[in-house]
Amino acid sequence: MTTSIPPSEQTLDPQDWSGLRDLGHRMVDEMLEFLQTIRDRPAWQRVPDEAREHLSAPLPQEAQGAESAYRDFKKYVLPYPLGIHPRYWAWVHGTGSPGGMLAEMLCGAMNTSLHAGEQSAMYVEQQVLSWMKEALGYPAEASGLLVSGGSMANFVGLAVARNTKAGWDVKKEGLSGAHRPLVVYCSTETHSSVQKAVEALGLGSRSLRYVEVDENFRIRVSALRDAVAADRQAGRLPICVIGNAGTVNTGAIDDLSALAAFSRAEDLWFHVDGAFGAIAAITPALRPLLRGMEQADSLAFDLHKWMYMPYDIGCVLVRSPEKHRSTFAHQAPYLDVQTRGLSAIPISFSQYGLELSRGFRALKVWFCLKEHGLKTYQALIEQNVAQARYLGELIEADSRLEVLAPIPLNVVCFRFKGGIEDEARLDAVNNEILLRVQESGVATPSSTRIVGRFAIRVANVNHRSRREDFETLVRAVVRFGEQVVRDG
Ligand SMILES: *Cc1c(COP(=O)(O)O)cnc(C)c1O
Repeated sequence: MTTSIPPSEQTLDPQDWSGLRDLGHRMVDEMLEFLQTIRDRPAWQRVPDEAREHLSAPLPQEAQGAESAYRDFKKYVLPYPLGIHPRYWAWVHGTGSPGGMLAEMLCGAMNTSLHAGEQSAMYVEQQVLSWMKEALGYPAEASGLLVSGGSMANFVGLAVARNTKAGWDVKKEGLSGAHRPLVVYCSTETHSSVQKAVEALGLGSRSLRYVEVDENFRIRVSALRDAVAADRQAGRLPICVIGNAGTVNTGAIDDLSALAAFSRAEDLWFHVDGAFGAIAAITPALRPLLRGMEQADSLAFDLHKWMYMPYDIGCVLVRSPEKHRSTFAHQAPYLDVQTRGLSAIPISFSQYGLELSRGFRALKVWFCLKEHGLKTYQALIEQNVAQARYLGELIEADSRLEVLAPIPLNVVCFRFKGGIEDEARLDAVNNEILLRVQESGVATPSSTRIVGRFAIRVANVNHRSRREDFETLVRAVVRFGEQVVRDG
């Protein structure tokens, strides 16, 4: 018996495959053209009112078609991006890559979810995790997980720290079983995502001790020692020390060897937030700066920042796979593993983090590392650090400018001085310079405060930047600086 499909049955596949294929080819051409000519565009521009208006239009009830949706994308979305221009250096914003973009398309075709089930993607993720352990010099036996970014990686690492060191069954009892307050330690320069994780883990921000830093913005280990001793004295339970491998403000790297030794001696978990800085360990020239990182109990880092992978992707590595797994492992009859068939799997990634359904983040890393090889990434990391030092030299060579912090890696904080002595006036002038530079579309640094002073801040995780781009920035800061001073 044959049954004919009633006309009411629908699918999202196109009726006209060749029409969609033509559109797809055009999209690939036009997106590669867009990236190829990105230097000719402004470094940033505000989303104009017309686009904002379109982007608040009501829910479409009727089909407008792929052609027309793509036209809207090109008109209202594509022209106003963040972070791919050669002179984009705000926050810590990776630039992606054309190969990475194509890998994302491949990923979209497979529509993988890594929750369970025997499929190639699982082996790709395992391979990528192995590659990253090798590249960073972290133990090969460690477990790991690809996550949305550094924030989630910090969360996972600190969750394992909490459950391992609390001394009671946190999974079962929660924190209501807490006989003693748990305490976590980090420097005052630590990224806000760490505090967010501590809060979400139910430890409370009051249990996060911000330890003072030295003149290079590195944690003072003697002050850490005093803080831990004081907490023990007061009957609290220290559980974890967080080391910074590249702080967001200045790129400072804590003395990770000293922190590792101290944590071991005090029976504390040692977690490293290496969101971007950990990646410096992929090059032999820079790895010594991060000595001690390989001893961390858990290590969080991003691949969408300094490895230039398309958003979003971060990674957490945990020295003890058992402790990692026991923090997140769960049983459910619909997730049982089998010896054959679909559910015969070597590893269930959902047992190592919060997410069950997970995208195929590994593919872009796998593809890009094959495309370029680790050596290219090593050269780029060294190039970014050399460029940051070059920018530092340009600033120091100009008496109107001033560097505000040491430059251990790829972050430069500076300001326009222009003979002004008053600190409040300097803050106001530099704030205005920053906004004028951004709005001019010439370059996009961001800002921070260094020991209370307003700083123009450049974080260079940009594989498109050239030396001349930093010269352009310096010229713009001086030009706008003199203009702001003239304007009063
Ligand atoms: C960016 C950053 C984070 C957070 O990472 P996301 O990928 O943005 O979640 C944490 N720590 C440091 C030092 C960072 O620079």
